[in-house]
Amino acid sequence: MTNEDMRSKKFIFIPFCLICQAFQARGIVRYGWHGTIKPIMEELIKQDINLVQMPCPESKFGGYEKGLKRGPNSIETYDTPAFRQICEELAIETIDKIKAILSNGYEVIAILGIEYSPSCAVNYQYTNKGTIHRQGIFIEILRTALEKEGIEIPFVGINRRGIKKSLIEIKKLFDKSKQSTLKLS
Ligand code: SF4
Repeated sequence: MTNEDMRSKKFIFIPFCLICQAFQARGIVRYGWHGTIKPIMEELIKQDINLVQMPCPESKFGGYEKGLKRGPNSIETYDTPAFRQICEELAIETIDKIKAILSNGYEVIAILGIEYSPSCAVNYQYTNKGTIHRQGIFIEILRTALEKEGIEIPFVGINRRGIKKSLIEIKKLFDKSKQSTLKLS
């Protein structure tokens, strides 16, 4: 038996609900994937990459028992000091993992979010005036904290209404990572 390290050196950080749709707010899981967001998961499994599930701020807020029963709310409803505090704690936990991974010489390909989520959107929110360009509160706090640490990682928002586009974006990241690995070797 050899001690050769066969573990994948590549990581991607995923939103909790990507593989656990029951943590989404009630009434918004309606795109045909009821447990995991299958098209994205199939691609990630194909890429043979380590998946790190980030915590779910909305279901943690007020306790998981209540969180699992919650309905959808706007970003304005969530934007309170108490919710930001939870997001800050979860961002610190996430960054600790990222720093450990990077300091071991591994690569974090991307951080994935969920578009239109008041917490995990990368680009878009629904409002009563239509769609606006605004990231979710958890992603905003995580991004700012990463910037302060001088860590650059691409963020990609999964848009369940435009899943093909999201898949193309994710595939591009993998291609970019493969090219840089080839250059290094
Ligand atoms: S807060 Fe984030 S992880 Fe939790 S259900 Fe919403 S998008 Fe998913």
